[in-house]
Amino acid sequence: MSETHKQTLKNIKRVVLKIGSNILVDSKQGAVNKRFIEALAASIKNIEDKEIVIVTSGAVGAGMLKLGYKEKPSVIPEKQTCASVGQIELMHVYSQAFANENITVGQVLLSAEDFRHRDRYKNLQNMIHLMLSKKIIPIINENDSVATAEIKVGDNDKLSSDVALFLDADLLLLFTDEDGLFDDNPKINPKAKLIPLVSKIDESILSLAGDPNSTGSAVSTGGMYSKLKAIKAVVESGCHAFLANGRRVLPHSVFLDESTVGTFFMASHKRLSSRKRWLTFVSSPKGSLVVDAGGIRALKNTHSSLLPVGILSVVHQFDAGDLVNVLDESGNLVARGITKYDSETLRLLLRKKTYEIHALLGDKAPEEVIHKNDLVLLA
Ligand code: GLU
Repeated sequence: MSETHKQTLKNIKRVVLKIGSNILVDSKQGAVNKRFIEALAASIKNIEDKEIVIVTSGAVGAGMLKLGYKEKPSVIPEKQTCASVGQIELMHVYSQAFANENITVGQVLLSAEDFRHRDRYKNLQNMIHLMLSKKIIPIINENDSVATAEIKVGDNDKLSSDVALFLDADLLLLFTDEDGLFDDNPKINPKAKLIPLVSKIDESILSLAGDPNSTGSAVSTGGMYSKLKAIKAVVESGCHAFLANGRRVLPHSVFLDESTVGTFFMASHKRLSSRKRWLTFVSSPKGSLVVDAGGIRALKNTHSSLLPVGILSVVHQFDAGDLVNVLDESGNLVARGITKYDSETLRLLLRKKTYEIHALLGDKAPEEVIHKNDLVLLA
């Protein structure tokens, strides 16, 4: 381990730890892996100077086992039922294991809606900060028993990167059932070598993840590709990431044992402000605005607000206050921001100058669609 790597680990305070279903659910014993969670609690007790937030998977897997399913059900109410039964099993084990170490835990169940609205997002941030200040460990999962496809974050790799971003974490620790990132598929090529340090996630690194559509195992959701995507989002916002095998590595060893096996991903960019992180990575836009070349130039060169005069068309339905993408005429994503107008009103204002807007809607109507402070350039 290099000196920089060591120093980086020393300075880490807030850690988001994501644990995959394969580790949490013991399919041989048909139950939640109590031994692992007990070891986890004891390990976290050793690093009490860090703030730990856990993103747990395993609810659907634990429920499946309890209810006698051999495979993940594809029918949504069945999956939701498994999650409902499994989540409580899982939390029961967490709560007892951490209580044995005198640590209090709290359950937080989220859906994509909680990230989409800035107010909800801020409330959530405040609540989790309060938990951390009281030394309570938040244990977060997707609210799988109510979340259907359109309001889902998707998989817990994405959920953990969203959580790391909204909590401004220093490190995202991903515990999976592989030792880290390899230069080839270790399941096929026994000579594949582990990559201990990655300082930039470019195309060549992404290509090591194999099939972008790989969906993990019978109980887990994301494959290596979804992990690398999650890691890419956090490192580009100034948070480090570590990918390790949760069957062999525990959180305290990442900080206290230099020989810990895994792949460390150095943050490749400076910290983004909370607002920019939210706009860029976390929230999901409701629609898009297609803007002409002059409008795009103004955004890029003079960092100005987006005015109706440059807007050519409006895609999808959205309300005032929603997040929208800004596209150029060829459909390339250029920026993202919070719109002051809903989609219906905006359709009446396309290409209009300020005096025309005021004639239509009155003098109080905002002249800009996205104010420059609510806009982030992506290209
Ligand atoms: N939220 C799901 C569960 O608890 C897991 C999703 C995932 O592993 O990505 O079962």
